[in-house]
Amino acid sequence: MTAADLPSQDQQQYQAFKQLGLKLDMSRGKPSPEQLDLSNALLNAVDGYKAADGTDGRNYGGTVGLPEARALFGELLDVPAAQVVVDSSASLSLMHDVIMYALLNGTPGNAPWVREPVTFLCPVPGYDRHFAICETRGIKMINVPMYDDGPDMDLVEKLVAEDASIKGMWCVPKYSNPGGVVYSDAVVQRLATMKTAAPDFILMWDDAYRFHHLGAEKLEVLNILEACVAAGHPDRAFVFASSSKVTWAGSGIAALASSPANIAWWTKHSGIRSIGPDKINQLRHVRLLKDLPTVEALMEQHAALLKPKFNAVLAQFEQYLGNVPGVSWTRPQGGYFIDLVTPDGAAKRTVALAKEAGITLTPAGAAFPYGNDPKDRHIRIAPSFPSLDEITQAAQGIALSLRVALA
Ligand code: PMP
Repeated sequence: MTAADLPSQDQQQYQAFKQLGLKLDMSRGKPSPEQLDLSNALLNAVDGYKAADGTDGRNYGGTVGLPEARALFGELLDVPAAQVVVDSSASLSLMHDVIMYALLNGTPGNAPWVREPVTFLCPVPGYDRHFAICETRGIKMINVPMYDDGPDMDLVEKLVAEDASIKGMWCVPKYSNPGGVVYSDAVVQRLATMKTAAPDFILMWDDAYRFHHLGAEKLEVLNILEACVAAGHPDRAFVFASSSKVTWAGSGIAALASSPANIAWWTKHSGIRSIGPDKINQLRHVRLLKDLPTVEALMEQHAALLKPKFNAVLAQFEQYLGNVPGVSWTRPQGGYFIDLVTPDGAAKRTVALAKEAGITLTPAGAAFPYGNDPKDRHIRIAPSFPSLDEITQAAQGIALSLRVALA
């Protein structure tokens, strides 16, 4: 085979793949049914409706969450329970509400954001639903490049010092979506200490993958709330987490952790929105998850199901893309995604070719504000949901699609 033959051979392989008539949806990072099964004990986990303090879980009330649920997340997040609120079935709604309350009412002691233009810094590639909140609520977004140890901090420091409209920044500090980046201690320190032109600047610290290790080493990130207190900015960070990818993604419990002032502020506003969260769900989660060691043991079981799928994708990419110039991909130590990076201008075409071959991917560009990847290079791969066979086939199909896109 000569080099000149290569495109046609790629075409042939791609066409043969298409003939298989597969239908594979890899658009979202959902847990597989086998992962959901790991928590089926939740179905019978409620042995009563009374919380430890006597609260009747069946009734209204308990805006901040049951004491035992706050204690559990306090232990999980390494934060005093008094600085934790447990509310809602998923953390995205808590993030959304923090931004809405800040826009309409202002953070403690500050004017409502909505009176002036509001800008957020967005490390890219990042999580599309973060960016969707900003876009739909009229918050301008600025891309910040992501490095191996976190966002480009020289740029972040410069921007926040100069521009008082920058009120916030999205951060997924561990195993980021989709790049799998883990923030270094130095990056966390700089985020906590940096001088911001806006006195009410906040960090939206989305700790979605805190326990979701894939590698042998359980990587740790510095405690942002403690770092902010030490830096004299105690109200800077709002930390979010949930049990979505620990137990059931659609029926979990979520937590917000922050300074005492921010928790009081949150409670005031969330008490207007709801007369209290689903405390029976909190009770059964506390019964099942118990404490940090129990959660870590459950996450090992998730990892045992996820690792072969990640490895299968990596092996297919190595086989079909290993020698293709300009193509690379991440080898995450945790989280839910692999970021496939194409040469400039090839991601959209690859996703379209994969679609023709029966593989639905997240739209190219989704990992960027306004759905616009300026160089059209990033494709988010979500290996969790399909079976091992399906994901292996899908990874091959994506690789073939990319080869054809480049031909
Ligand atoms: N944050 C990130 C970074 C995510 O990737 C996801 C799920 N894809 C979420 C939040 C959603 O979390 P929850 O289910 O708690 O709303």
